[in-house]
Amino acid sequence: MPSYAPAAEEIDDDDFIDDDDLPGPPSRSKKGGASGGKSGGKGKDPGRHAWEAEYKKSWDIVQEDESGSLESAVESLLARGRRKRALMADTPLRRSIIRHMFIIMDLSESMMDKDYRPTRFEVVLGYLRSYVVEWFDQNPLGQIGIIIMRDRLSEVLVPMGGNPQEILSVLSDKRRLEPSGEPSLQNGLVMAKGGMSHLPTTSSLETLIVFSSISTADPDGPTTIHNVLEDLVENKIRTTILSLAGEIKICRSISERTGGKFGVALDQDHLKDLMWETIPPPATTIAPPITIGVRNALSAAGKNASGSGGGKAPNGDLMVMGFPIQLPLGGETLCSCHGLLKRGGYLCPRCGSKLCDVPTDCEVCGLMVVSSPHLARSFWFLFPVANYGVLHIEDVMESSKSHTCTGCDVEFPDVSTIEEGVAQVEDGVSPTGRYRCAKCQNDFCADCDLYIHDTLHTCPGCAQ
Ligand SMILES: [Zn+2]
Ligand SMILES: [Zn+2]
Ligand SMILES: [Zn+2]
Ligand SMILES: [Zn+2]
Repeated sequence: MPSYAPAAEEIDDDDFIDDDDLPGPPSRSKKGGASGGKSGGKGKDPGRHAWEAEYKKSWDIVQEDESGSLESAVESLLARGRRKRALMADTPLRRSIIRHMFIIMDLSESMMDKDYRPTRFEVVLGYLRSYVVEWFDQNPLGQIGIIIMRDRLSEVLVPMGGNPQEILSVLSDKRRLEPSGEPSLQNGLVMAKGGMSHLPTTSSLETLIVFSSISTADPDGPTTIHNVLEDLVENKIRTTILSLAGEIKICRSISERTGGKFGVALDQDHLKDLMWETIPPPATTIAPPITIGVRNALSAAGKNASGSGGGKAPNGDLMVMGFPIQLPLGGETLCSCHGLLKRGGYLCPRCGSKLCDVPTDCEVCGLMVVSSPHLARSFWFLFPVANYGVLHIEDVMESSKSHTCTGCDVEFPDVSTIEEGVAQVEDGVSPTGRYRCAKCQNDFCADCDLYIHDTLHTCPGCAQ
């Protein structure tokens, strides 16, 4: 594998010439020597710095309308984002709401590369912080742990747990996360597998690997990364690998065989898109990696109980869960999860041991301990609000319904003033600014539509 290294350096030098303009020492000494330092020139605007380049594109996209306002451009950007989500949400699938995920972060020296600004390390760390918050928001019953790979070793940075604050505080401590050496994919995966070995098969076991290097330095011994891959397949650990550098054969085969996704980030925004795609609960798999079998089995079960194609239909599984008793913030007592003296916490309803946070698996009896609000929030994905339909100009002309939004009472734009040619339906943007709920036939504005589907998760019109 080391033979790939020179090739990648060549690509870097050709495609990311902008790097020469960065302040500080170049990421590789070779690069600085070849380009002749900072004053390279290369036909660039002298008033601009390289680190401003990232924002260039967003100005190009935004175009003023006739009245010189940016409002319509911003709206269409928002609506495009919604369209993306809508396409994902409409597929009927059986989803795992109980997820256990290890985020495996590559902290090799390649994370200090400056093709992402300011560095890959800073970008990934920043994304991970918001990723964790978003992930717990959408997966209230899930748990996340963090593993780092550097100097050919792997280390559990944060053990599996359901407390985003704990993870965020660790991710904010940059001194603990200094990148160095080479990564070992094998060690990282073995550690993740070990950390999930005690978990029940009813939960979705996943790893998300953010891989920056273009090679892996695995231990020399009888066990190879291919053995580890077999183990992952056997234990149904879904592995998603996002590469910052390029496509790597072993990474692709690991993700494909375990039913995960493999992605190569083209730039910072694309990396974010790829990461955020893994946030919604995944479809459950009966026999990974054949994900498509689930839908066949489900449709087969509807018509015919014996179901000839697609394998066995999934049974409804029952799970044991406990609702804990919250302790008052009195004196300090010993917790069973950390073995530390702490105030407050929860009591396991089965064995009575003290736990710091919920949701978690009881350290003593193994019971899954959740709080009822967490359980209620996980229903979002079981009963989602259907996407609102886009109203065309003709639709609004015909129906003389209310002229204000059902959600916020803001007035809709007058239909007669909208010109036919200007307002095209593009990427799901409504030309009339109206979005209608198919169930209750109420109209909503674009802002309310976003708010209802992203935050509220219930239609106010239907609830009336
Ligand atoms: Zn504890
Ligand atoms: Zn217990
Ligand atoms: Zn509204
Ligand atoms: Zn409704």
